[in-house]
Amino acid sequence: MQLSHEHREIQKTLKRFIDEEINPHVDAWEEAEIFPAHEVFGKLGDLGLLGLTKPEAFGGAGLDYSYGLAMAETLGHIRCGGVPMAIGVQTDMSTPALARFGSDELKRDFLAPSVAGRMVGCIGVSEPGAGSDVSGVKSTARKDGGDYVITGQKMWITNSLQADWMCMLVNTGEGPVHRNKSLIMVPLRDGPNGRLTKGVEVAQKIRKIGMNSSDTGLLYFDEVRVPQRNLIGQEGHGFLYQMQQFQEERMWASASSLVAMDECIRETIEWAQGRKMFGSTLADQQWVQFKLAELQTEVEALRALVWRTCELYVQGQDVLQLASMAKLKSGRLTRAVADTCLQFWGGMGFTWENRVSRLYRDGRLGSIGGGADEVMLGILAKTMGIAKRAVA
Ligand SMILES: Cc1cc2nc3c(=O)[nH]c(=O)nc-3n(C[C@H](O)[C@H](O)[C@H](O)COP(=O)(O)OP(=O)(O)OC[C@H]3O[C@@H](n4cnc5c(N)ncnc54)[C@H](O)[C@@H]3O)c2cc1C
Repeated sequence: MQLSHEHREIQKTLKRFIDEEINPHVDAWEEAEIFPAHEVFGKLGDLGLLGLTKPEAFGGAGLDYSYGLAMAETLGHIRCGGVPMAIGVQTDMSTPALARFGSDELKRDFLAPSVAGRMVGCIGVSEPGAGSDVSGVKSTARKDGGDYVITGQKMWITNSLQADWMCMLVNTGEGPVHRNKSLIMVPLRDGPNGRLTKGVEVAQKIRKIGMNSSDTGLLYFDEVRVPQRNLIGQEGHGFLYQMQQFQEERMWASASSLVAMDECIRETIEWAQGRKMFGSTLADQQWVQFKLAELQTEVEALRALVWRTCELYVQGQDVLQLASMAKLKSGRLTRAVADTCLQFWGGMGFTWENRVSRLYRDGRLGSIGGGADEVMLGILAKTMGIAKRAVA
């Protein structure tokens, strides 16, 4: 896909912002195991970067999805995985269904302030008992008067220590598991870092081996009242909406991995060229040359797949298979790149603050989050006609 002058301008603006406002703070945020989402999102919102693909009526730029992916790719310049992931949750994981199926009132209340960067959002799908098997979520919303009353748990929720709202997948009926779920917008706090909504408890901040600058929480919901107008689209369509929303999440995840891998390989080349050994340098070893050349070839192949998927998506074609392939390959390739490069850094690769060891830790999530590798393989087995499709 050919990127236009506008794509390049957006990438330049974002790169400048990353260099000036994000990268100088990354080490401190990684150490603190959280970053100031409201502050960073406020600035990104001022630059118009949180709503590139969102409707103009709600503050967005109304551009096609290729602009969102151009942004995702550029986020790879951030020197950690946690901050890009948090931004991606806001732009491509928690808001696509709201933008596509939400009422104007809901979009005014939640989408417009999120595009402006005044609100931080999160996506609540996973639970302690259901991750890969999304149909197994147990949280419920029952109707009472004009409200939904929500009870349940959501686990692994990115941004949730700071988020103002959650786009939450809950059971709203007793029917078949793919048709009894709904997406509901749930206010979590009464303002930035304000008081939690009655019945919401942040039970735990989860400590992780990577993605440290991103806050990840376990949340309990005990009879939380939300007006019924907070339902996104139609009741019972939540599973379907979430599967569509996952598609953008998976394209986003693949695109955002590319530059991080480029930079990991480039910094490893620089390191290897300076590392003296056996009368020459590490980069003079043909094994090192060939391994790095091969990995960069694979990154370029993934880049081609990502942009081909994007081009077809923008044309309105079904990209379930290609997006799943890109997500699968991106998770596996990130692990291969980080592991191979870390090896070439020797002991230095085993230290905590090395960019390469950070990608090794952060990148490991790529094969687990947003649908594990095996979930992608399951989709591919079905779309390729190898495995039977479930009868819903
Ligand atoms: C840092 C982080 C951030 C996250 N952010 C969010 C968020 O913001 N919102 C949200 O809703 N969720 C979030 N998640 C949850 C994430 O999407 C889940 O962890 C993921 O879907 C896997 O679910 P699980 O952890 O319950 O593992 P399980 O579902 O228990 O799966 C365990 C393993 O089983 C294997 N497996 C799965 N299916 C199959 C199969 N069909 N065949 C063979 N093997 C299989 C895979 O290897 C998988 O890793 C986050 C997770 C992490 C770690």
